[in-house]
Amino acid sequence: MKSRAYAALAAKTDLVPYEFERRELGSNDVALDISYAGICHSDIHQVAEEWGPAIFPMVPGHEIAGIVTAVGTKVSKFSVGDKIGVGVFVDSCRACESCQKGLQQYCVEGMTGTYNGLERDGKTVAMGGYSNNFVINEDYAVKIPDNLPLDGVAPLLCAGITLYSPIKHWKVKPGMKVAVMGLGGLGHMGVKFAVAMGAEVTVLSHSPNKQADAIAMGAHHFVSTKDPANLTPLTKNFDLILNTVSAELNINDYLNLLTLDGTLVVIGLPGKPYEVHAGTLLNGRRSMAGSMIGGVPEMQEMLDFCAKHSIVSDVEVIKADYINQAYKRTVASDVKYRFVIDASTI
Ligand SMILES: [Zn+2]
Ligand SMILES: [Zn+2]
Repeated sequence: MKSRAYAALAAKTDLVPYEFERRELGSNDVALDISYAGICHSDIHQVAEEWGPAIFPMVPGHEIAGIVTAVGTKVSKFSVGDKIGVGVFVDSCRACESCQKGLQQYCVEGMTGTYNGLERDGKTVAMGGYSNNFVINEDYAVKIPDNLPLDGVAPLLCAGITLYSPIKHWKVKPGMKVAVMGLGGLGHMGVKFAVAMGAEVTVLSHSPNKQADAIAMGAHHFVSTKDPANLTPLTKNFDLILNTVSAELNINDYLNLLTLDGTLVVIGLPGKPYEVHAGTLLNGRRSMAGSMIGGVPEMQEMLDFCAKHSIVSDVEVIKADYINQAYKRTVASDVKYRFVIDASTI
């Protein structure tokens, strides 16, 4: 299947128009026309080869929303014309305990990434969503409810599920005090989900100018972390802290904000290890945990939850020829709150 895309032809280079062939539709596959593809910070890391050796040419993009154009003979989940979403992975071993539990993101063999990797045949290079079309096994795609706009949905497939999954796992509910560290593409989804689940939500942000946005998204409190003294009154305050910050910081300052049995979940990926004082964990039986995207059943559950609560990502829709500029602005945190490529401009 012929495909138009934007690709990085080598590490650390600008993305340029690129054409290639996707694999043909298999009996369990679905073909889709991509409507929108979100720009995730991990796309930028991989194009820059900051996460180890990468495969070039690389078509990034793992926040994909589109319309089904063809289905294989054995497909039962989708019909032509359905709205469909694709996230961070397109396959996994299907046999391990994680896969059996629908937690494909934790597959013991490693999930098969949507791009910058080989598909499970061991030879087809996976090409991502900065493209006009896509082919995927139906088991790894999700249905997008009809009432949700595709541009705002695209970032839900990575940024959204990355926050939805820990919010569900740690059972956020009314009466809980939840803090979201960082108000970016990830954090703003955490605010929306935690608010929708009835928690009292505080945004802890380095950027005081984001206060109005945080409150508009439903946050109940906003605390600027520019002055660390602002954190002191919040000591032993939160049941759950969702840490979306990838910049280096003193994690103990934040662990101290957890109440008895509270958990700080690491979602952002800093370059250096955290230095955790054991005493900070012991005092209050606190936990520090991690969470990575979400599995296929949870992605579907999230989209259905979003349909019910009218939740989508705040997006800036761009044309494909703006991708390189959007990368620079994403690195500078100058986006409200996710860039989404209009795939009709590719
Ligand atoms: Zn992502
Ligand atoms: Zn597996």
